[in-house]
Amino acid sequence: PYVVALHAVTKVYAGQVHALRGVDLTVAGGELLAIVGPSGSGKSTMLHMIGTLDRPTSGTVRIDGYDIAELSDRELSALRGRTLGFVFQQFHLAPGVSALDNVAEGLLYTGIPRRERRERAAAALERVGLGHRLAHRPHQLSGGEQQRVAVARAVAGDPPLLLADEPTGNLDSGAGAEVLGVLRDLHASGTTIAIITHDVEIADWCPRQVRVRDGRIVADHGDGAGRPAE
Ligand code: ADP
Ligand code: ADP
Repeated sequence: PYVVALHAVTKVYAGQVHALRGVDLTVAGGELLAIVGPSGSGKSTMLHMIGTLDRPTSGTVRIDGYDIAELSDRELSALRGRTLGFVFQQFHLAPGVSALDNVAEGLLYTGIPRRERRERAAAALERVGLGHRLAHRPHQLSGGEQQRVAVARAVAGDPPLLLADEPTGNLDSGAGAEVLGVLRDLHASGTTIAIITHDVEIADWCPRQVRVRDGRIVADHGDGAGRPAE
């Protein structure tokens, strides 16, 4: 099954702002796609739908095969916990807390014992090239390193889907390239990744580009685009 399947999804805020106007989107395991469009086009709203942070006004959202309309809020948050990793423009790291503990905290509610949480956190930091920074606190790290810690936290539980919302938006181009390199490596090792961006260069760097305008998908090019249903 698809990791993500949106069908005829609409989202109307406050009864009047039509943020999504009928979105169909499927994402297969292993894809790296960009959701690109100008400010106000509906990208964040799509991220909220895919991330199950909010429910659609109409239409169907399936994540990892589950129709989210059939799940309670509690079941939804469990699905989110095991299926999705999030990276945002702001790094959202706890200040004064080591990189290792920042990543391990992301596994707090998984039921994994503390010692294994720390082992997994260390392994995730290795994956993003920060195996030598485990004890560093956020203020001792560069912006690119802080965002890599955030990526490590997002993938420490091995979620099938990583959602990145403007992951390089707060970084200079060198640090941005560092973070994109980490995402490319994760993609190469099988993680499905969706990057929300207004940056056309980052979109072009992705094998698939989904272009959004005025709440609609206006183009969908590259790997996986328009793939027939399995
Ligand atoms: P983007 O991420 O592409 O900038 P958004 O999804 O944030 O676009 O916004 C799409 C439209 O929906 C915009 O007109 C925005 O002002 C509106 N919008 C987004 N979130 C809300 C909300 N919580 N309440 C009301 N309007 C919203
Ligand atoms: P960014 O463009 O930096 O991603 P957004 O403009 O999308 O930020 O919005 C940040 C938050 O504010 C989101 O949670 C979004 O849903 C909410 N939001 C956006 N537009 C509106 C709006 N017109 N009214 C209320 N909330 C909004």
